[in-house]
Amino acid sequence: METKFEEFEISSSLQKAIKEMGFEAPSPIQEKVIPEILKKHDVIGQAQTGTGKTAAFGIPLINDVNSKQKHIQALILTPTRELAIQVAGEFQKLSKHTKVQTLPVYGGQSIGHQIKTLKRGVQVVVGTPGRILDHVNRGTIKLDRINTLVLDEADEMLDMGFIDDIEKILKNANEERQTLLFSATMPPAIRKLSNKYMTKPEHVTIDKGEVAAPSIEQVYYKVLEKNKLESLTRIIDSETLDLGIIFCRTKKGVSELTESLQARGYMADGLHGDLTQSQRDVVMKKFRKSTIEFLVATDVAARGIDVQNVTHVINYDIPQDPESYVHRIGRTGRAGREGIAITLVTPREMKHLRSIEREIKNPIPARGIPSIEEVVE
Ligand code: ADP
Ligand code: MG
Repeated sequence: METKFEEFEISSSLQKAIKEMGFEAPSPIQEKVIPEILKKHDVIGQAQTGTGKTAAFGIPLINDVNSKQKHIQALILTPTRELAIQVAGEFQKLSKHTKVQTLPVYGGQSIGHQIKTLKRGVQVVVGTPGRILDHVNRGTIKLDRINTLVLDEADEMLDMGFIDDIEKILKNANEERQTLLFSATMPPAIRKLSNKYMTKPEHVTIDKGEVAAPSIEQVYYKVLEKNKLESLTRIIDSETLDLGIIFCRTKKGVSELTESLQARGYMADGLHGDLTQSQRDVVMKKFRKSTIEFLVATDVAARGIDVQNVTHVINYDIPQDPESYVHRIGRTGRAGREGIAITLVTPREMKHLRSIEREIKNPIPARGIPSIEEVVE
């Protein structure tokens, strides 16, 4: 028997917003996690990307915010600015029929402006660890009265080196708070963090088999280093593609591939850490609106990005570690849609492919590069 949203003890204004968002039934992680959070337990929620973790904590959290009180009642930490904006956006939709105010707070945006908005009184803050800590040190964000602290995409935050900032924030926060941690993977550093800062957490894991499956087809093409660009263009020409994210290993790789694709008439733009915030916003906006067809990105720049209609994830450079592969392919197949993950593999890189196959416990089938005839039809 499937649980329905109606079975959760949450306000009717929240029920209404969930309906308007088009959510028909809770996803497996939501089904398990929402009742635990409503009971005020600390929770560790582990499930693949694209399984609805944001609403899993967003729904119970918004339900329990007192909108008459103007102090910060919940803090959500995310690894990137894009994700902070995305999570805040989902919260704003969920709280459409309530007076709960959510503010995204991230680096690269004027701190003065953020301070002004904070002074007007928001109940939920979503931000990146560095900028949140900056506000805590200035006294412009006070964490002594928060009820809930969420570490979202915890594995990615640790990968990005935020551990010290996160610990400082946790030490500054109300000790009586509820702490929630969400992550796709559970490396030892996360267990350590949860042992230290969480109280008897409920550990909820959704196995790959249980995931209301983003159906992601996975294939690889064996390519020669010197033919990589040519191979890529033949592959994308032969695919029926809506939006594609192409991953490169380095920022330089992103710039070079973006230029090469643009020179060949593809609608592509690059996203990497050296861009200013407003440049990144412009690129993301174009991608969301399908003004460009391809987003070329590094792992770090693409973290947590949730764009509907991403039909293709293409690993132009194969990821060095299997966990990045899992994160990358999670950019497609969002909310149960179909997607395909294509990996280009040079002969020297076959060992990386094998370790990815071990991680996902499945073989990835090979495909042959389409011939010119197949591409032209
Ligand atoms: P995760 O954090 O697990 O990677 P997200 O929270 O970003 O996943 O959710 C992925 C997508 O699924 C979002 O577009 C979100 O709005 C959508 N979604 C979440 N819960 C549901 C649901 N119960 N039914 C339908 N779509 C949902
Ligand atoms: Mg998420």
